[in-house]
Amino acid sequence: MVTEPILPRIRPAIAALAPYRQGRQAGPDAFKLSSNENPFAPLPSVLEALQDTTPINRYPDATAGRLRARLGARYGVDPDQVHVASGSVAILHQLILATASVGDEVVYAWRSFEAYPSLPLVAGAVGVQVPLTADARHDLDAMADAVTERTRAIIVCTPNNPTGPIVTSAEFAAFADRIPADVLIILDEAYAEFVTAPDAVDGLAERVYERHPNVVVLRTFSKAYGLAGLRVGYAIGHEKVLDAARTTGIPLSVTAAAESAGIASLDAEAELLERVAVLIKRRTRLVTGLRAQGWDVPDAQGNFVWLPTGDGTDAAAAVFADEDLIVRPFAGDGIRISIGEEASVDRVLEVAATLC
Ligand code: PMP
Repeated sequence: MVTEPILPRIRPAIAALAPYRQGRQAGPDAFKLSSNENPFAPLPSVLEALQDTTPINRYPDATAGRLRARLGARYGVDPDQVHVASGSVAILHQLILATASVGDEVVYAWRSFEAYPSLPLVAGAVGVQVPLTADARHDLDAMADAVTERTRAIIVCTPNNPTGPIVTSAEFAAFADRIPADVLIILDEAYAEFVTAPDAVDGLAERVYERHPNVVVLRTFSKAYGLAGLRVGYAIGHEKVLDAARTTGIPLSVTAAAESAGIASLDAEAELLERVAVLIKRRTRLVTGLRAQGWDVPDAQGNFVWLPTGDGTDAAAAVFADEDLIVRPFAGDGIRISIGEEASVDRVLEVAATLC
């Protein structure tokens, strides 16, 4: 008889969580449209920077000082107002651990980025989900109404992953004015470079952290800059708030290669933003085509589109997968499809036409 080994006791809140599942890996002929990655190959200059970096038998600079200085100059802030970590998801964890503990509340919109629900739970805190509006946007009034004396942090995701719409500048300003000054607001702008809506909030251009020192803006090199595999993201905000994130973060987790590639990407920003413009064109083509087929696609401002497939989600995702299109289904709700290679747009349109 096989007996189960006795395993260490796991905190019930952790045992109850589904472990993070990555978007399905694609076969050689498939298009991987499940993780909002950038389909372009890395620039030669970025690859060169990877060669020419601290040797891997040495630890990296724990403060990512060169990249912080570069970002500070780019955004006109002191390097101490910049925090770099191994992906912006790491910064989300650090900030929630720094602000929320047992019994505290963290407010976020739902549906939104699938990593959000685990953030408060890992910290021992409680997540408060505020439903999106009917047009898949943040309901910022309802989010502000959800704040209690236990609220320690609020996450605002713009454009919202996975549905696509932005929060406007005016909406964010009115919202931030309503939130108590001692409650952290994380403005997650992972897809900011893909935004074309002229009224969208841009936390860095607007320097929202100056009027509201409780706001931290998150950005990443994973999407527009195509460095998802190297893991590097950053936050800009008040030095003391970022110090708290630096404290809860795992030391030395930003590698020298990631830091160098980040700097090389900023050097090549114009070239990388040309690629972003290509992806935006593909997005427009995909959204227009899907809407022409009758799909009710919300405003798509990131590098992905949302198909509201409802109860038919898993079946629809299986049809895409059979056609070598790996998309991201959210059971009972909808499918997120990343903007990938040019040919993938045609393939998605062909398959979507059979489903509507
Ligand atoms: N925020 C949002 C809204 C995201 O969609 C993602 C990635 N899917 C992240 C943060 C994290 O990105 P990274 O850790 O690669 O910087």
